[in-house]
Amino acid sequence: MDDNLRIQCGACKGFAPASQFKLHYKFKKVVCPSCFSGRTEQEERKKVAAPEAAQPKKPAGWDKEDEYLEKMIRIKQQSTPQAKIEKIPGSNLVKLGCFKCAYKFRYDPIRKMPQYCPYCNIEVPNLKTYNL
Ligand SMILES: [Zn+2]
Ligand SMILES: [Zn+2]
Repeated sequence: MDDNLRIQCGACKGFAPASQFKLHYKFKKVVCPSCFSGRTEQEERKKVAAPEAAQPKKPAGWDKEDEYLEKMIRIKQQSTPQAKIEKIPGSNLVKLGCFKCAYKFRYDPIRKMPQYCPYCNIEVPNLKTYNL
């Protein structure tokens, strides 16, 4: 038998001289010298631990900024949509620009007609909030 014949280790897939392979109680097979001495196991543990160590979960200040942005988004979503309105002289009607699609249509603020944007069908917001 050629002592210098290098064979692949079943545990670490590395190559080592066949003569140095030993049966390992934990692997339940013959392994290369580095696996036998526990070096491979140590390397594996390092690899597992590395990703967390290399990437801290959140950089300093991240939380604060993120919270702020989320708050802003929430405020934006909660605020009443603003429709653009123009009075039509000599009538009780207004020219209303849909806050969603910007489609302009005539709106009767007294009868609240039409209730929906004729273009995108979104509900027209309560115009009491506007100064007519
Ligand atoms: Zn090995
Ligand atoms: Zn619309």
